[in-house]
Amino acid sequence: QTVTLVSTIPSGLPEPSHFSIVSSDVTTSNLETGSFVLQTLCMSADPYLRSGLKTGDVPRPLSGFIVGKVTASNSEKYPVNNIIGAALPFSTLHLLSEEKISKTISWDLTPHITEEDATLGLGVLGMPGATAYGGFIDVLRPQEGETLFVSSAAGAVGSMVGQIAKNVKGCKVIGSCGGPEKNAIVKDKFGFDDCIDYKTIKGAEELTKVLEEKSEGGINMYFENVGGMHFEAAMNTLKPHGRVAICGCISRYNDDSATPKLNTIDISKMIYTFQRVEGFVCMPWLSGARGKFLEDMNEWRKEGKVGCEQWVVEGIEKWPEAFQALFTGKNTGKVCVKIG
Ligand code: NDP
Repeated sequence: QTVTLVSTIPSGLPEPSHFSIVSSDVTTSNLETGSFVLQTLCMSADPYLRSGLKTGDVPRPLSGFIVGKVTASNSEKYPVNNIIGAALPFSTLHLLSEEKISKTISWDLTPHITEEDATLGLGVLGMPGATAYGGFIDVLRPQEGETLFVSSAAGAVGSMVGQIAKNVKGCKVIGSCGGPEKNAIVKDKFGFDDCIDYKTIKGAEELTKVLEEKSEGGINMYFENVGGMHFEAAMNTLKPHGRVAICGCISRYNDDSATPKLNTIDISKMIYTFQRVEGFVCMPWLSGARGKFLEDMNEWRKEGKVGCEQWVVEGIEKWPEAFQALFTGKNTGKVCVKIG
């Protein structure tokens, strides 16, 4: 039997009542050539899933990133005990074929991790790791000694961006996140030079002043995870030839109203100072089409330069709570759901 998570469309903050679980049978005997069974070890909860929940009006199966172990196989490519990361439906058991898995994004974690540390494949060696890597290395293109500002600095992506910047590329790093506890973690554990508690700040003008002071005259790069006043303050503080990577905008994901106007940005400054603002999606790096995310992140992880805090719950029935934590800020680091 497999157990699958289904959702209806929530308005505003997603609540556990918007989700339910259905069971169905899977035949795992007499596997055809090229087929194999993947047992889910852990599932991811990611902010981007919120936008998918805005469409459709009947409960439908949820899909996202999982790490699984091959438990039965008639495939040379996917033998028993292989550990695989993939984008698949949130089910506990998958009957797959080589052809089927080639149509989704997947990456082989077997050389890098064991079943016991499978959650690494959702964080540093998974989609957030590829996002931090691609967005920072290839979109922002850092130079040693430059100053980076990154929002949601205690989160999965933000914390890794800051660590790559500091420990691999030799940048000065200023973060922003909510609350004194997270601020302390960002500085003491992740090694950021400074961090701003955005919950104590009233708006873009105040955040601009604080950022100007902390950066001692301006930032060279901004890694955007949240939107709103963070974007405004970053643009106001951005130096000539500055770069901005637009990764996410979580402050808007539960809000159905129109995106508010950004009032304080001087667009002409962007022209004459050759600034660049670029949106991106992690897929080329996760699939290996661009860069060497898996090899590089694994090496930096082993050298102790980049890690990802994990916020773990157990059981598929806890997934909705884990998902909600992303929007209330309950999590520090990667939200993972372990499947028993
Ligand atoms: P995080 O681990 O950063 O978790 C989400 C965090 O967002 C919360 O812990 C909370 O931290 C913060 N947050 C929630 N609401 C707000 C708000 N209104 N204002 C400011 N901060 C808020 O998640 P991820 O690391 O997985 O994702 C970070 C961002 O990256 C998201 O925007 C996501 O959509 C984006 N993303 C984009 C990808 C791409 O390919 N472009 C791929 C992966 C992620 P706090 O307590 O500090 O408020």
